[in-house]
Amino acid sequence: MMVLPRWRWPRSIPMPISATTTKTSRFRAYAIAKAARNRKSSGALRAIALLVAAFAFLPGGCASTSLAPSVTAQQATIERNDSRAVGSADNAESVGLVDAQSLAPGLQLDIRYAGSDNFVGAPIDGYHAPRCLLLRPAAQALARVERDLRTQGLRLRVFDCYRPMRAVRHFVRWAADLEDQASKPIYYPRLDKRELLGDYIAPTSGHSRGATVDLTLERCDGATCAPLDMGTPFDFFDSRANTDAADVTALQRGNRDRLRAAMQREGFRNYPLEWWHYTLQPEPSPGRYYDVPVR
Ligand SMILES: [Zn+2]
Repeated sequence: MMVLPRWRWPRSIPMPISATTTKTSRFRAYAIAKAARNRKSSGALRAIALLVAAFAFLPGGCASTSLAPSVTAQQATIERNDSRAVGSADNAESVGLVDAQSLAPGLQLDIRYAGSDNFVGAPIDGYHAPRCLLLRPAAQALARVERDLRTQGLRLRVFDCYRPMRAVRHFVRWAADLEDQASKPIYYPRLDKRELLGDYIAPTSGHSRGATVDLTLERCDGATCAPLDMGTPFDFFDSRANTDAADVTALQRGNRDRLRAAMQREGFRNYPLEWWHYTLQPEPSPGRYYDVPVR
C-alpha cells in the first residue's frame, strides 16, 4: 500500500486571502496544489498531492460542482494572480484606487500599519499616510454601509483597506525574525511565533487587490464614540478571532453578527476566520495585485 507523504504548509506559497489570516483546510488545498505544481516532484507525487488537495475541499462545501474542476480553477486563479501583479504604476489614482473617506466622511480611520500600533511595532513599508484606499466600487459600497449604520447610532472604525504588496513582504520579514517577540503578549499570546509564518502570515494578501477592508463598529452617544466589544483586538492571531468562535460572550457574538449583517447588505463577504476582514463580492479586480504606496 502506498503511504501518503506528510504534507506541511509550504511557506513559500501565496495565500489568496489576508496576509494576516488563520489557517484552514481549504486554503491549505490551494497551497498543496501549487506546491505540487512548483516542486520538481515525480508525476505520481504530483497526482497524490492534487488528490489530497481535492479532498481538502470536501468540508469547505463545493457541493454543486465536482472536486477536480474546483481545484483546477483555483490553480488557474493563483497562476493568473502571480503573473498579473502590477509593478509599474506608482500612484493610487492611476490604478483606480480612491480615498474611501472622501466618499464617506463619517468613516473613522485607525490605519494601524501607518503607525506603530500594530503587531510589527513600526510603520509598515508602503504606508506613508493613514488613508483608506479602495477600488471605487468597494469604496462606494463601504460608504453605503456607513450611511446605513449612522441611522442606528453606529459608525465604522477602519483598520486597513488596500495594502501594498511591499507591506506584505514587510510582514513576512517580521514573521521570520524570531528574535523579535515584542508584540507576543498582545497579538499572539497562545502561539509560538514560528507558527505565524505560513499559517497566519502569507506572502500575498487579498488586501492588495483593493476591495478588502478590516474594520469594526463603534457606538456613538452624541459626540462620544466607543468601539463595540468584539471579543478580541484587531489582528489577534488566535482561533478566538474566528467570526463564529464559540468562546466569546453572547454580547460579543451579537456585535460580530451586527457588523457582518451591515456589511453583507452592501455585498461584502466576511472571512470566517477573522471577524474584522471583509471583501466586496464580486471583486472589481480579482486577478490583480497592486503595489503602489499609500500616500
Ligand atoms: Zn484583513
